[in-house]
Amino acid sequence: MTDYDAIVIGSGNAGLTAATALQRGGANTLLLERHNIPGGCATTFIRGNFEFEVALHQLSGMGTEESPFILRHIFNDLGIMDDLDIVTEHDLYRLVMPGELDITLPADWTGLQKTLIEQFPEEEDAIVEYLTLCETITLEYFLNVPKAEKSNDVEMLNSTCPNYVKYGLRSAKDVINEFFRHPDLRAAIGAYWCYIGVAPKDIPFVDLASMIYAYAAYKPCHVKGGSQAISSALLESFHKAGGEVRLNCGAEKILTEGDHVVGVRTEHGEIFSCKTVVSNSSSIQTYYELLDQAPQQARDDMMSRRVGPSAFVLYVGLDCKPEDIGISTASSFIISDRDEEKVIDAMREMTPPVNIMVTCYNLEDPEFAPEGKTSLSILCLQYGEPWEKLSPEEYAKAKFEFANHLLDKAETVYPNIRKHIEEIEAGSPLTMMRYLNTPGGAIYGFDQNHQDSAYFRERMDAVKGLYMAGSWSGMGGFQPTYMAGSSTARASLKYIQTVSEQEEVLENA
Ligand SMILES: Cc1cc2nc3c(=O)[nH]c(=O)nc-3n(C[C@H](O)[C@H](O)[C@H](O)COP(=O)(O)OP(=O)(O)OC[C@H]3O[C@@H](n4cnc5c(N)ncnc54)[C@H](O)[C@@H]3O)c2cc1C
Repeated sequence: MTDYDAIVIGSGNAGLTAATALQRGGANTLLLERHNIPGGCATTFIRGNFEFEVALHQLSGMGTEESPFILRHIFNDLGIMDDLDIVTEHDLYRLVMPGELDITLPADWTGLQKTLIEQFPEEEDAIVEYLTLCETITLEYFLNVPKAEKSNDVEMLNSTCPNYVKYGLRSAKDVINEFFRHPDLRAAIGAYWCYIGVAPKDIPFVDLASMIYAYAAYKPCHVKGGSQAISSALLESFHKAGGEVRLNCGAEKILTEGDHVVGVRTEHGEIFSCKTVVSNSSSIQTYYELLDQAPQQARDDMMSRRVGPSAFVLYVGLDCKPEDIGISTASSFIISDRDEEKVIDAMREMTPPVNIMVTCYNLEDPEFAPEGKTSLSILCLQYGEPWEKLSPEEYAKAKFEFANHLLDKAETVYPNIRKHIEEIEAGSPLTMMRYLNTPGGAIYGFDQNHQDSAYFRERMDAVKGLYMAGSWSGMGGFQPTYMAGSSTARASLKYIQTVSEQEEVLENA
């Protein structure tokens, strides 16, 4: 008899989802988290009168009550949907290149098509064709690809997923360039690449296509109370179902016997036995630090991996309303070049960023900031590597300079931000590293390119009973990690059942 059926390491989105689904599925589960609050990236923090959202810019995958999408079903199954107050956004984003381009795309599938045609009438046919492709490829990907994969049936894949077969794994940039001629239209339709963190030339088209379809057709949203409200609701549901959580309690070792897991040792030296371990920590930490020896399968896999980007973020509280500085959309991308390669190059250096994202949380949810004030996040993606090389003195200077670069860029569209600052906090890739315990402070796991995507990677199964859940074993981001937590719980519940049946046979023998 083990202490627990399952131990989940880490309470990020995937860890919390897996723990809750396991406990509600009948598995006696312990959740270990090294930080003092649950959520990983999905948290908020307080400075002065402001509560700042750490990570969530736009939640995808919820849909509406009338037209629910996948995440609403998952949250229903986890028993938290009634605890969440969803704030639906009206626009996808405003994309601005000062003096050259300024376009706002609505969060509405037909409205999106109409807006693009109004702005680029000479490319009407291509716009209609492209958006139809995004819709059909998303439906094929979510509904038919899993069935074909499960049956390992190429014929079925070809007949039920023709668009996926033709376009799905092509480079997103190639497909966009094939459809469109105007550089502004190309930039406008592909702007969500920033949420994936690699240049469109390296993104499988299906990832970008399903992103714009999911956001536009099912609406981007926030949750009242920020992403912390989702994390807290998940923990509450886990508790209610009888789960046990230990905060401030990192896992130090995953214990194995032969080829399977048998327990976990915490950083405080306690040892708990279990049948299965779900790790929401990075795969690099899981295989190289938590296990005594990384299995060959993991070593082979990791050799060809690249750690993805982190971020530099300014959390800013202003003493004025959003409209006072010209904020008209909850999400904006401010770019100074349409060439994404230049953005990626800047992400690897300590040079001023080429692209930034500005999110105003109280534009669609006035309660998110004190009355008459504004809560902003100003973010650019940054790889952790150049930051890791800085001495402590250089770091302090670089953080200050980088904060100024971001403010300079934001002020090209929203003038006078500096005059209105009441609270400001900066988070660098090293901050992300400290709070998330990820290599390089990575926020989406490995680079989300063709080579690193889950499409071409084997599932790690060398250590029986050990499951990975989170951005390191699939796609990063909110929706994918909740989905990963849910599917990982299903797989580990099956494993627990098999182990329990084997134990019963042995006991009765
Ligand atoms: C600034 C920022 C902006 C972002 N913007 C967006 C966005 O707009 N849209 C979007 O979809 N995504 C966004 N993301 C990315 C998204 O938040 C993440 O990809 C996702 O939340 C990762 O979830 P996860 O389940 O992989 O776990 P994580 O959030 O990485 O959490 C892992 C947890 O495991 C814990 N842990 C690690 N090691 C141990 C150990 N040994 N023992 C115990 N606990 C351990 C950590 O403390 C942490 O709590 C953003 C992230 C950041 C930081």
